[in-house]
Amino acid sequence: MSEEEPGGEENFRNLFRTSEVVSFLIFVVLIAFFFMFLKQSGGRVSNKGSPTISVAYGKSEKEIGSLMTEIRNGGDMPPLEDDFVMDKSTDLASQDHNIVIKSEKTEQYLNLILLNLQKNFPDKWKARVIKFRVYDDRYVGKINNAFSLTAETVYVGITQILHVNDEAEMAALLSHEVSHIMLRHSAQLRKVIKNSTIFLQRAFIKKDFEKVVLIYFAVQKLLGTTESAVGIVPMEFETEADRMSQTIIRDSGYDDLALAVSLERIEKTYGGGIFTQIMLKRIRDLKNGSKKKPGLAHVGKAFIVSNKEDLNSVQANLQRFIDELALK
Ligand SMILES: [Zn+2]
Repeated sequence: MSEEEPGGEENFRNLFRTSEVVSFLIFVVLIAFFFMFLKQSGGRVSNKGSPTISVAYGKSEKEIGSLMTEIRNGGDMPPLEDDFVMDKSTDLASQDHNIVIKSEKTEQYLNLILLNLQKNFPDKWKARVIKFRVYDDRYVGKINNAFSLTAETVYVGITQILHVNDEAEMAALLSHEVSHIMLRHSAQLRKVIKNSTIFLQRAFIKKDFEKVVLIYFAVQKLLGTTESAVGIVPMEFETEADRMSQTIIRDSGYDDLALAVSLERIEKTYGGGIFTQIMLKRIRDLKNGSKKKPGLAHVGKAFIVSNKEDLNSVQANLQRFIDELALK
């Protein structure tokens, strides 16, 4: 007998099945309501922001912040003698890596400007010897470049010297580079790197890998330079050197906007990406710095220890020098 065949027993079983189906449907509806309720209440929670996730995130941000402070401020500064030892060794390496040009006329000119600036250096720096090295910055992808070593040597790119319009712009550039040395930025950077190594080792030994990740984030924020952002420390160093140099050139009698003018011209010619962002910030800060000293507008001079002809002659000499170099 097949189940499809009608009969009394079959009708009873159908009835039984109907009540079974109804209870099943009610059960399904209840389950559906339950899930709808769950989803709704879940939705309400996530609209407010999941408490567990946001607390953990806030905690990490706070920890990264305090790690950054500890990495920057912890420990002692490297001794000053190290700056001199390192200056000598990096100078040798830099001479190997760069095309250094022996141009007495240029070096004399730079020293003449330095002497005028040095009267307004902090006391212990007034008598210090600063060595200038003129180098060909055209082939290293960093035109309009200058950099300072750790204690006494400043490298000045030829395109930078050819770029300046007056003595004040040259003075502003030199005092910016020497300010990096006076503020011991290299030593501060060495301390930051050393501290982060110590912190990482401690966390590794304790097998605290969550902390290892947080330390990496902190170091990235402090030093990391990407295409869209520059680390807090290098940016602060630029701001500090600009501020110190602006005071020095102002006190030396130069136009305190000379660096801003020079940077604006470089930015217009070579600007782009992160470079522009940094330049615009520096230009803005320098202009604000100048505004804080009212009554100084157009008081500062463009030439003090030289004149336009002197600068032109130094530039022409340097130009001949590099033309000859290119012919070899
Ligand atoms: Zn700088």
